[in-house]
This record gives sequence, C-alpha cells and structure tokens, in this order.
Amino acid sequence: MTGDPKRRSTGSPLLLNEDGLIEGARYIASPNCDERPAGCAVELIVVHAISLPPGEFGGDGIIDLFTNRLDPAAHPYYATVSDLKVSAHFLIRRDGNLIQFVPTGRRAWHAGESTWRGRIRCNDFSIGIELEGTDHAPFEDAQYVVLADLTRAIEARYPPTDIAGHSDIAPGRKTDPGPYFDWERYRALVKASVMEISRAGPGDYAGILALQSANYIGNLTAKERESGFLSAELTRAQLAAMAEDLGVVVAREGGRVVGYLCAHRADLGPLPPVVEAMLRCARTAVHRGRPLAATRLFVYGPVCVARSHRGRGLARKLFDALRAAVAGRYEYGITLVAGANPYSLRVHVDGLGMEAAAQFEHAGRAYHLLAFPVSPGTS
Ligand SMILES: [Zn+2]
Repeated sequence: MTGDPKRRSTGSPLLLNEDGLIEGARYIASPNCDERPAGCAVELIVVHAISLPPGEFGGDGIIDLFTNRLDPAAHPYYATVSDLKVSAHFLIRRDGNLIQFVPTGRRAWHAGESTWRGRIRCNDFSIGIELEGTDHAPFEDAQYVVLADLTRAIEARYPPTDIAGHSDIAPGRKTDPGPYFDWERYRALVKASVMEISRAGPGDYAGILALQSANYIGNLTAKERESGFLSAELTRAQLAAMAEDLGVVVAREGGRVVGYLCAHRADLGPLPPVVEAMLRCARTAVHRGRPLAATRLFVYGPVCVARSHRGRGLARKLFDALRAAVAGRYEYGITLVAGANPYSLRVHVDGLGMEAAAQFEHAGRAYHLLAFPVSPGTS
C-alpha cells in the first residue's frame, strides 16, 4: 500500500519535542515571553493572522516585531507598533514555512486582553499561531496543511486542546484570522489524520486485505522483506470469520486502514496451513513450566502496520486494545514468527514482551512459536 498521493504533500508529521520546540522548524528566540503561571497547562490553540507592513507578505517585519527590532522609521505603520512587546509561539509564512519564536512550555504574548470559556488572560493557557495573512485575502493551501500538522503535533502533547481565533477570545477588539480563514477546511484537515483504533467491521475488510497484500511475503522482494513481512495470507472469508469471532482490531487514519491485528480461537478452522502447523506445535509446547495445551489460549495474529506508520508504537496500541478485549476469557495468546523475519521477532519480543516457547518447521521454513499471558500478572 503506497498511500493516497493527495495526502501529506508536505511530508512527515511534525514532532513537538521535550523542550517544547518543533523538530526541524526554524527557531528565532523572542525575548517577549515568560513562565506560565503555576498550574496553567496548555488548553487552547489561538489562530491569528498578521502581515507587516499590513497587506504585504514576505518581508522580515513580523520577525523584527517579535524580536523587538522593528525600525519605526522603515514604514509609517511601524512607528505605531514598534514599541509593542509581543510574540507568538509560531508563524506560518505564505509558503508554509514554519518559524518558532517561543517554546510551547513558556507563555508567549499574543492574545492581549482576552477571555475563553469564562477564563481571562488566554496567554496563560494557550499556544499562539500566527498565519502570515490579512482580513482581505485567502490563505494559501500550504498554510492550511502546515497549520493542521502543527495542531496535531500540539494535540499529541497537550490533549485535549480547544481551538479558537483571536477574534473569538477578543471580540470587538480583534478581527484576525479574519473572514477568509476557512475554519471548516482547517478542522477537516486536522481530523483527517486522527488515528482511530477499534474493532473491525465489514467496511474495513477491503482496506485490511489491501494492506495484507502489500506486506505478504510472496509479494515482496528480498530487500523489502528485511523490514518485515506476513507469512500467511488470509482469504476474505477467513478474515470475516476472525472479525466475527474474537475480533480483528484495526487502526484507521483518515478512513484508511494503517494497521490491523487479528485474533481467533484455536479451533476456528480452516486456517492457513502454517497456522495449523503452529497449533500442532502448541499441543506439546511448554511456557515457563506450564503446558500451553492446558491453558485457555487464543491465536494472536497476523498483525500488520503500514510502512508509513512503523516505528511509532502502533503495534503496541493494537496489542493493548486486543488484550483488553480478551481479558478474562483467555489466559494465553500464541503466535508465530518466521525464523527469517528478525524485524518481526524484535517487534514481538522486545516491543511487546512475548517469549519464544518453541520452534517448528513448515514447508521447509523455520518458525518461532511465541507465547504471552493475557494479563501481565498471569504466569
Ligand atoms: Zn491576533
């Protein structure tokens, strides 16, 4: 699955690091900031628009204003604002270029006299984002995309976060971001990449099968197999049987399936031959002194995460969702990983805490049988 080319024209997601800085963004420190008052968490994003001189784009006026370097003689308008001590955490320029002025953990001075949901002094608990723009012209596509990326990065760090315009928190005094700012478009872009994890229904089967096909060993080159592969291919009927039985957990982003995890009873059958071989192995396997055959066990897997979403803990989230769903009904989960799939073995053993209980062969290939207790307290 290579992804929809309409998505993400600007590339990878933004990351807000522990210092409150967006990694990779240009950082120009503004002196116009201070500590947030004790007990004030980030709960609000304030969207602004600004241009200096008004209506002109591309110059250094905004940067100069936020760093107290605006020359009052350079433009008649500058004389009226050059004494202001103001800043915002972020500025998104017309071309989508992102500049940060204040770490998000500190209080930037962007809102002025303001009220949100009955609370005054919005600077105390908000993050200010300036778009280079005016009340009189539409914003650029690149600005919406970066604003949505930035919003998601902030929300990943400070949930839950409200969003408002400067005009919403200072009505009558401020008009930005103005009538040309398309709130619906912005909110849709933010939502489009929100990850949902839930039990799969029939509407997910096509997406799951497409992701499976993109990662099945038979469809990959030797090089592609190095970053993981699926050993077995489920038919639509087998997938539906699993989804209606113990259940398949699916992760969707913008309606697209980006990961899934299957689980089923050991006697669901008929299963792919390699899974049947694992079940034969499980009849005699012992895990920490306990014969697996004597436990209430279910079969875990296959699990698959889209290449675009690896390395972000998604397998763990799917695993946790599944464990919560089967807790109380099952004691053990078992799964298989091909001996020639060290990537997947690392994900399962190091990432998910499973343990190798036995090894078996099927059709000339070696496999590990992995086991894990459903509740971590079980042994
Ligand atoms: Zn403003």
